Amino acid sequence: MDCLFCNIIKKNIPSQFIDENKYAIAFNDINPKAPTHILVVPKVHISSTLDIDESNVKYLSEMALLANKIIVSKMISKKGCRWVINTGEHGGQTVSHLHLHILAGRYMGWPPG
Ligand code: 5GP
Ligand code: ZN
Repeated sequence: MDCLFCNIIKKNIPSQFIDENKYAIAFNDINPKAPTHILVVPKVHISSTLDIDESNVKYLSEMALLANKIIVSKMISKKGCRWVINTGEHGGQTVSHLHLHILAGRYMGWPPG
């Protein structure tokens, strides 16, 4: 299976690395929608939130821990940020490998477009 984020994890495709743990890796979004736009992805292929189950939910919690580590270390926690996970067509998901967006550095609108 040819998956963009699996190829970034394997370093077949370069990315701006931010941080990682045993289960997840974080890198900058190539087309940032905010001054800070980081993607946190599981190190195994999980297509979307729809594929999270008892066998792999550990990856989601480790993504959350890595996200918070980054948010604290980058002082994003002072002003706040937004976590986003898009799922499927209506959710606006364009890469079929689960990813958490961390958006920060400006006010976020609500409701999202
Ligand atoms: P989605 O729309 O699936 O929620 O988010 C996919 C994200 O991946 C988009 O924000 C897009 O800019 C980002 N993206 C697409 N291709 C690449 C790439 O080759 N490298 C990186 N770092 N980000 C990418
Ligand atoms: Zn993948």
